[in-house]
Amino acid sequence: MTAEIRVFPCLSDNFGYLIHDPATKATASIDAPEAGPILAALEREGWTLTDILVTHHHADHVGGIDELKRKYKCRVLAPHDNGTPIPLVDQRVKEGDVVKVGNLSARVLATPGHTLDHISYMFDSEHALFCADTLFSIGCGRVIEGTYPMMWDSLLKLRALPNETRVYCGHEYTAANVKFALTIEPDNPALKKRADEVTKLRAANKPTIPSLLGEEKEANVFLRADVPSVATAVGLAGKPAAAVFGEIRERKNKS
Ligand SMILES: [Zn+2]
Repeated sequence: MTAEIRVFPCLSDNFGYLIHDPATKATASIDAPEAGPILAALEREGWTLTDILVTHHHADHVGGIDELKRKYKCRVLAPHDNGTPIPLVDQRVKEGDVVKVGNLSARVLATPGHTLDHISYMFDSEHALFCADTLFSIGCGRVIEGTYPMMWDSLLKLRALPNETRVYCGHEYTAANVKFALTIEPDNPALKKRADEVTKLRAANKPTIPSLLGEEKEANVFLRADVPSVATAVGLAGKPAAAVFGEIRERKNKS
């Protein structure tokens, strides 16, 4: 692992992320929720922004692109669906494409459901997954444009990544997610362990990100819709995992 990754807050509960290649000095911002904190982080590190890797078209992920591009003339990579309003795109990317940030490379994974255009960036050699509003720690994004089966497939795609993958998601929602997940799996030891950890991190005003994918697989109820005890807990024993997932997501919407 050679990359340096910085995590900092943007807007009310978004994460800003910079990934930097020390060998070439290339630096990418994953999304651009707002310019201010990203500019401040770049200045703090003495880094020059070379790329913005956009995950999806929502305003709280693209609002800072204009200002950053004006200052750094950086390359803007965005999802293939060019019907969505993402400003100043230089290159469209899709499932299977490999994106270079200096010498670092990321695989583009199509992860639709939250939006139809949503993609995630997997830096395999860094064990770093930037999955924005598809997978959260102990949660997942709202299914706004897609369907529950579509979102479940996207989550399965992420779940298949190695356990040592560090998950860098789009929002600091972990505490609320833990509270909700405990209503379905109150006795899940991995979830209880994560609950303790999150309480301590938040009390110290620290981010709960990154989390380890191996731990998410055990503790995140949205990745566990195909576990029989979870189906039973939501009254859908024996039903397809996508239906169980949909029920859990509906409950979270109402929580
Ligand atoms: Zn979003």
